[in-house]
Amino acid sequence: MRKKVAFYTLGCKLNFSETSTIARSFEGEGFDRVDFSQEADIYVINTCSVTENADKRFKTIVKQAQKSNPGAFIAAVGCYAQLKPEELAAVDGVDLVLGATEKFKIIDYLNDLTKNDRGEVHSCEIEDADFYVGSYAIGDRTRAFLKVQDGCDYKCTYCTIPLARGISRSDSLENVLKNAAEIATKGIKEIVLTGVNIGDYGKGEFGNKKHEHTFFELVQALDEVEGIHRLRISSIEPNLLKNETIDFVANSKSFVPHFHVPLQSGSDKILKQMRRRYLTNLYVDRVARIKKTMPHACIGVDVIVGFPGETDEDFLETYHFLNALDISYLHVFTYSERDNTLAATMENPVPKNVRNKRSKMLRGLSVKKRRAFYESQLGSIRTVLFEGENKEGYIHGFTENYVKIKAPWNPELVNTLHQVELTEIDGDGLVRFGFVPEKILA
Ligand code: SF4
Repeated sequence: MRKKVAFYTLGCKLNFSETSTIARSFEGEGFDRVDFSQEADIYVINTCSVTENADKRFKTIVKQAQKSNPGAFIAAVGCYAQLKPEELAAVDGVDLVLGATEKFKIIDYLNDLTKNDRGEVHSCEIEDADFYVGSYAIGDRTRAFLKVQDGCDYKCTYCTIPLARGISRSDSLENVLKNAAEIATKGIKEIVLTGVNIGDYGKGEFGNKKHEHTFFELVQALDEVEGIHRLRISSIEPNLLKNETIDFVANSKSFVPHFHVPLQSGSDKILKQMRRRYLTNLYVDRVARIKKTMPHACIGVDVIVGFPGETDEDFLETYHFLNALDISYLHVFTYSERDNTLAATMENPVPKNVRNKRSKMLRGLSVKKRRAFYESQLGSIRTVLFEGENKEGYIHGFTENYVKIKAPWNPELVNTLHQVELTEIDGDGLVRFGFVPEKILA
């Protein structure tokens, strides 16, 4: 009897790309993949260490699997599994916990699916996770997530990712181009480049600490790959977003004018305590360069509120800094202590209620910024990639510069690219449009 396997992914695009690669290895071994809500013989949960309440979320998902099939074998992989293997192994129902070096070899641990009283742990020292495994995710969505880099050598004081994913290392340029070409043959129109610190691409490409290629060279090479309509850079550190990359994207064939650039704080004092590798003046310069070469570009910003020692003045400095910047939206993270990070031992922790108040204020600012950005795009001609889901009778999609649009559901539009004129912003903040006659691009 072919065994059934189901997957649940928490966290970032990188995790989704890795789940997809692990799932393909199961299908290659004759397993049938089913939805997580269905009955399966094996449930694999790809965990995240950044998600707020990661532990509670994990337990809820395990319970969901147990409800679907009390006798099923439950395995945990991913960042949380690497950081807290024993904690996950102790969760009722968990049978297997695999660390960073073992997650892609999960099938080797499934010869005996007998349930264990306590999860069997096969973890590692993170230093051992110094090799690279390529992955990409397609099929779950209209666009593909292509992993090009893993791990991080930075030491931001609040972050556990280097502890969960190891040193910075990259896929070979040749392999990235091969994966991209493979994805293009599957009719996927957009590829999102993903990793942990993708601006550091090229480091450890051949298992050493050297940079064989740069991120700029990766971008140039990918722009030549046939059959890819759109390439989107998921997120890139401001100090690694070079002028040459910005200028190239402005005139490139496939790269879209959308940059997601983590800022984390608008206070230089706090940036220093976070051990970020830039100050606010560099960030201002990056935004200015993008807007000078691509005035219609979309700029998304990650920001953390409530970092230890952040006074009301520091927070207001961040608020006014962001308010003055020509950016398009914010991803707001409320600081929460993480074990084994420097920030968790820092003095002057900000009370939770103050953190939440500040978070609320920045989320309000993000709504204002997104609205202003969308309004600035009304009347312009853009290209929309329509997605595959019927959302309450509507089809959604994104323009190249990340404006979210909606239209009455029409299955013929799924996964097609059309030129449109953006006309108005609907009550739910999404943008309506008119088709530019007969301008079907693909
Ligand atoms: S750059 Fe900093 S925040 Fe980002 S993954 Fe590396 S250590 Fe974490």
